[in-house]
Amino acid sequence: MQAVIFVAPPAAGKGTQSDLLCEKYNYLHISTGDLLREECQKESLEALYIKEKMEAGELVDDSLIGTLLEKKLTGNTSNFVLDGFPRNLKQAKLLDDILEKHDIENLYVIYIDVTYEEASKRIINRLSCPNCKRVYNDVIEELKPLHSGLCDSCNVQLVKRSDDNIETFTKRFNLYLEETKPLIDYYKNDNCLYVVDGSSDKMTIFNKIVEILTNK
Ligand code: AMP
Repeated sequence: MQAVIFVAPPAAGKGTQSDLLCEKYNYLHISTGDLLREECQKESLEALYIKEKMEAGELVDDSLIGTLLEKKLTGNTSNFVLDGFPRNLKQAKLLDDILEKHDIENLYVIYIDVTYEEASKRIINRLSCPNCKRVYNDVIEELKPLHSGLCDSCNVQLVKRSDDNIETFTKRFNLYLEETKPLIDYYKNDNCLYVVDGSSDKMTIFNKIVEILTNK
């Protein structure tokens, strides 16, 4: 079995690339952000804690994420894309255990390189479908919905994430630089790290990722 993970800042296109990969290869798409947003719908102290952390642009407790992930992977027999995990060294070690437990022999780590300026431009106009979670953008031509404000597949009203504002984004980006980007060093000796230029359009990035998955 194989798994794909991303080392990439917020708004680098992890969600969009994960969707494209799942469509092409029938992977299971696991977004820890989406798992957490689902948990937020519940009426519990844990849901309040998660909401607070997400709105502040901070990371949610590692072991809580680990538990949600394990639940999602229990009984899974498909290759999968992990969108948003690992975010720090502790989670990378947690992932090592998960890969071993689920017999994943091939790990692809895709580093999407995007600057703060580029990512912040994208985040301001980002919208997503509350139903299928597909990501759109009001001003980027290739990510615009066919009908303004509506999901192409579900036809429901698109929503803006409450953490997609410039203040929270800046905090998330800095957290990425401090905690997530150093994972490049963790993976670089394992022969599984690939660099992709994230300033290109979505299909150029996708084709590059397909090339990586095909040529290994
Ligand atoms: P995302 O949808 O990946 O942009 O994540 C949105 C928010 O969910 C992040 O800013 C964090 O607050 C939280 N989050 C998502 N994935 C993780 C993770 N692996 N570890 C900790 N917090 C996470």
